[in-house]
Amino acid sequence: MNAYRYVDPGPTPPASSAATAKVMRRTKRRDTRPELRLRKALHRRGLRFLVDAAPRGGNRRRRVDVLIRGPRIAVFVDGCFWHSCPEHGTLPKSNREWWARKLAGVVRRDRDTDAELTKAGWLVVRVWEHEDPDTAADRIVHLVRARTRPRR
Ligand SMILES: [Zn+2]
Repeated sequence: MNAYRYVDPGPTPPASSAATAKVMRRTKRRDTRPELRLRKALHRRGLRFLVDAAPRGGNRRRRVDVLIRGPRIAVFVDGCFWHSCPEHGTLPKSNREWWARKLAGVVRRDRDTDAELTKAGWLVVRVWEHEDPDTAADRIVHLVRARTRPRR
């Protein structure tokens, strides 16, 4: 998943901060439940894709959660906390400033990735962790159709 894709905003807050440690601990790097659910929903719709792949033309170090190569669609599943979802984004109570910088760095990097991939001809789709996987999958299938040339 995307949780680890952030720009390091500087030294980690004191290790004594239990809250920080707790947030860090619940961070999974990939194959998070929202990702798995979306992948399952896409599979059910007959889509084939690469998982955790580096798109051609993009920065090799920035992995895409679901990569649909033909129509060049790059799907990210963004966690509500790390990517500051407008509905569920929060700042931990302790080390607020540090977290604010850290999370702002994540968002900055997201937008930077979007710009880079768009420039390379990819359509970037971002799915929130809280979104219904079937709704998101329908949206993606629609985009795939729109970007796939009809067969002759
Ligand atoms: Zn959310």
